[in-house]
Amino acid sequence: MKKKSQTALLHAPRNAPQYISTIQPPLYRASTIIFKNTDALFNRHWSDAYDYSYGTHGTPTTYTLADSIARIEGGDFCLLAPSGLSAIQLVNASFLNHGDEVWVADNIYSPNMEHLRYLKTHCGIVVRVYNPLDANSFIPSDRTRLLWLEAAGSLTLEFPDLKKLVQKAQQAQVLTALDNTWGAGLAFHAFDFSDEHLSVDISVHALTKYPSGGGDILMGAVTTKNKTLHHRLLSVHAIQGISISGDDAAQIQRSLPSMQIRYEHQAQSARMLLEWLKQQSEFAQVLHPANPDNVASHQFWLENCPTGKSAGLISVIFKQQYDLIAVRQFCDALSLFKLGFSWAGPISLVMLYDLKQVRTATSAHLQQGLLVRFCIGLEDPEDLIQDIAQALHQLKSHSDQPSVISDL
Ligand SMILES: *Cc1c(COP(=O)(O)O)cnc(C)c1O
Repeated sequence: MKKKSQTALLHAPRNAPQYISTIQPPLYRASTIIFKNTDALFNRHWSDAYDYSYGTHGTPTTYTLADSIARIEGGDFCLLAPSGLSAIQLVNASFLNHGDEVWVADNIYSPNMEHLRYLKTHCGIVVRVYNPLDANSFIPSDRTRLLWLEAAGSLTLEFPDLKKLVQKAQQAQVLTALDNTWGAGLAFHAFDFSDEHLSVDISVHALTKYPSGGGDILMGAVTTKNKTLHHRLLSVHAIQGISISGDDAAQIQRSLPSMQIRYEHQAQSARMLLEWLKQQSEFAQVLHPANPDNVASHQFWLENCPTGKSAGLISVIFKQQYDLIAVRQFCDALSLFKLGFSWAGPISLVMLYDLKQVRTATSAHLQQGLLVRFCIGLEDPEDLIQDIAQALHQLKSHSDQPSVISDL
């Protein structure tokens, strides 16, 4: 039948044959997914990953990525969300009800804390904070539902006592959710991390970081090994309309083959910086799990990451004589390190924080002073060291002028 031109515009003459094989899987973009017939329509089941029914529930492109992430992390089921934070909120929304208690480490990713504060105010959730280096500070009660873990924690990068914390949670029948963005499934196995085959219940991963690696795409994942937990997450995922774009999923899928190489390169550069930063007189403390100065964190890291893996993040605390003006000058003087949030992209990033403004708990092992976090990119580490050296040098020449740093 010859079609009128408007119709011909809509119905493409060629479909890809089934047998064609390419390095990257084909990209599906879909809101509508066309059913073969009414049988397929009436027999579909929303929770079956192979029963494609509508774009929000997924396409082969999004399921390919979800399966890849599950495999990297050692889990069995994975759901994708439009950002790491939205993956975190999916966990909170799925398991926390009015009156439930949730425990978070004091070095937790701070937007997670902000989300929990919102739930506290509006949904009657009780939020308790523990010290990740002291499992005894986590005291579950009958109302405790969820324990959030992060290894290493955000900004100050302490590695927690993962084993004891998870053991305690299991004894108290408390769900464990790990923000696994730092380990990325590469530094340790969240679903089998000790000699005793301990496992977290849920792993959340900001795919925005290592899996993407481009500094240009936002996505998050929630992985489990437990079908019941997965179904709970899946139903909340469905009713909230959480979905991601096929294009974004395909971009991340394309970055996965180089993920481990990027991870290891950035980790190695961070370790080089660690040795150099420790020798600089401007810093009161250099924060990295491989730094033995923080004895407890270092031990827990060695215990859980025996192959010595770590991500490309490193923080410093400036000595107190360096006030906000000085630390801002330092950050502005950097040239290879760009000022911006996030990490694990190709370009090195720097960000400054006043811990007093992002933390409620005080930590005895942390020095007072402003914190600067370096996120190591793919540049040559020697150039990065030179960049920091020249910025510190500028700081020194400024601090000779008493008008700049008033309280010296
Ligand atoms: C970046 C980050 C997230 C959130 O990821 P987004 O995609 O930026 O929302 C969550 N947890 C940690 C530890 C992160 O570093």
